[in-house]
Amino acid sequence: MTDSVLIRRPIARWTGGARIAACPRCQESVEDSLGSPQIPTMRLANQGPRRVDGNTVCVRGYCCRSCEYVLAIGPGDANVEVGSSRDRGGEPWVSIGAVFADGSKRPVVVPAGEVVP
Ligand SMILES: [Zn+2]
Repeated sequence: MTDSVLIRRPIARWTGGARIAACPRCQESVEDSLGSPQIPTMRLANQGPRRVDGNTVCVRGYCCRSCEYVLAIGPGDANVEVGSSRDRGGEPWVSIGAVFADGSKRPVVVPAGEVVP
């Protein structure tokens, strides 16, 4: 875990009729890495530093181990109910802004418990 972690969106690739998530740089499937990779809180945008507890925060997404990108899923694609009190695992998620590798600021999804209300 370093401050050099870069965030990108995964790309969709079609293989045998199935839509799989892939790395935008090396095109490899990242489907089996779906989880909660950590990003430094310094990558968060438009948030005061007190809003997140600690130096890193989990985001809903994939990671490409070859490229060392965190591939964060947008709130519309996260397969979790953003903003609701529960998802299937019982954990609430919220949308928060982050700075991506290209300098753009886009929403990512983080566990609500990591964001101080
Ligand atoms: Zn890659």
